Amino acid sequence: MNDGIEVSKPRLRIELVPRPLWGKTLAKTLPRSKWRALRAWALGRAHNACEVCGFRPVDGKGLICHEVWEYDDDQMIQTLAGLEIHCTECDHVTHFGRTTTLGQPELVAAARVRLGRVNGWPPEQVRAYELAAREQWRARSAREWIQDLSWYERWLAGGTEEFLLQQ
Ligand SMILES: [Zn+2]
Repeated sequence: MNDGIEVSKPRLRIELVPRPLWGKTLAKTLPRSKWRALRAWALGRAHNACEVCGFRPVDGKGLICHEVWEYDDDQMIQTLAGLEIHCTECDHVTHFGRTTTLGQPELVAAARVRLGRVNGWPPEQVRAYELAAREQWRARSAREWIQDLSWYERWLAGGTEEFLLQQ
């Protein structure tokens, strides 16, 4: 979790994965046992709380190990940047595209409200951000992408910043 607020990177983000990359995740690439170990590490680092809003479920359930991706729009490379623990409601914002396909308008409305509240945005800024995210998704979905999962190799080697912070 970032303590500093970056203008270009709001605390809670809509992260729409370009269509050609749908289903291509580290979770699906790794054997189940290895993903479980990685997820357990991420949950421990986050003290079993959402790293966006701080919500900590009493039963420890419902937390999602979210894969954070960065996009190089010139080289067309999607790079795994790390993991972030999300609660279900923050995850409905991050995966806003999927949320809109669930056939539950109340979830979509709640995601918009949450996006505004967490980031301190008025409704018109939420709307503008959503439109920009959709526009970016359309452009990125029309391209072919290369995926870079080398973050995991660095994690295994103990070389990620997050891992070192745990030492
Ligand atoms: Zn949350």
